[in-house]
Amino acid sequence: MTEAFKLGIVVPCYNEEEVLPETTKELTEIIEQLVNTQKITNDSKIIFVDDGSKDKTWEMIDGYSQSNNFVSGVKLSRNFGHQGALLAGVTSASKSCDAVVTIDADLQDDVNAIIKMVDEFIDGAEVVYGVRNNRDTDSAFKRNTAESFYKFMEILGVKLVPDSADFRLMSKRACEVLLSYKETNLFLRGIVPMVGFKSAKVYYARKERFAGTSKYPLRKMLRLAINGITSFSIVPIKMIMGLGFLIVLVSIALLIYTIVQKIHGNVVTGWSSMMISIWALGGVQLICISVIGEYVGKIFSEVKHRPRFTIERDIYTEKTLKENKTR
Ligand code: UDP
Ligand code: MG
Repeated sequence: MTEAFKLGIVVPCYNEEEVLPETTKELTEIIEQLVNTQKITNDSKIIFVDDGSKDKTWEMIDGYSQSNNFVSGVKLSRNFGHQGALLAGVTSASKSCDAVVTIDADLQDDVNAIIKMVDEFIDGAEVVYGVRNNRDTDSAFKRNTAESFYKFMEILGVKLVPDSADFRLMSKRACEVLLSYKETNLFLRGIVPMVGFKSAKVYYARKERFAGTSKYPLRKMLRLAINGITSFSIVPIKMIMGLGFLIVLVSIALLIYTIVQKIHGNVVTGWSSMMISIWALGGVQLICISVIGEYVGKIFSEVKHRPRFTIERDIYTEKTLKENKTR
């Protein structure tokens, strides 16, 4: 592709008033640079998605969209979570952009990697993953849990690109395919590799959050991880079956042991083994029921087909329509 194309940069924001000025500045610089090198058209846009923030985030986005030609925004009617916000942004952006980049608002991801992504796109890649080459800025806890999570997913046979989160570029066509996956329980980084097409990776160093605090408390992180596992694999249910068989085997062994003990007349013994079995089996059963419950719950939420996000205002589409009219 030699002609300049229209780029949309989707930025989900939840209570991000502290970082927005800097994020806007840095992303605008990137867009200007790409416009100047004639890679993208000057109607390319940064699309901030306000995910039901409680602070001044939306007022700021609205303000920037009036003063900065490269900025526009989408406001969700309430907090739908990071994945929902991303999807809302991609839905709006992919209507008129040739390629869409998604990036967090907190500047942890290197904005300069966008330039490399654009180059890969120009070279024909339709999905470009941003892959972090360090985890130094994470706490040891987050590093270890993330590592085990990716390993576990690999064992379960889910295709993920390790160390890539939601910083990536997708062509219009890839976005459309992504949007055709209608699941309510979103785990985008699991769906993207299923989209297919030619893909590429861009490596970058992940930094500390520019300002403010993480909007992903442990609770949301665990939710996302469980979602990732149970939306993409039924191996856990199969593992329960294996566990069941194992326990049946153990109980047969125990039965034989008990009979042998009885023959030898040692009947009063066995109190401890009985107590242990009651508790151990009770625990195992509860865990198994909860895993099955997780899947039943998933079916429950999927069949309802509730909207994954609701847009309250879409400055991006309003602007695009206006721009097209004046042309
Ligand atoms: N975010 C969002 N909705 C939420 C939580 C987070 O849109 O309910 C956004 C947030 O504003 C940020 C991105 O998702 O742009 C990633 O969140 P954060 O940087 O706090 O997560 P961390 O990097 O700590 O995992
Ligand atoms: Mg962050």
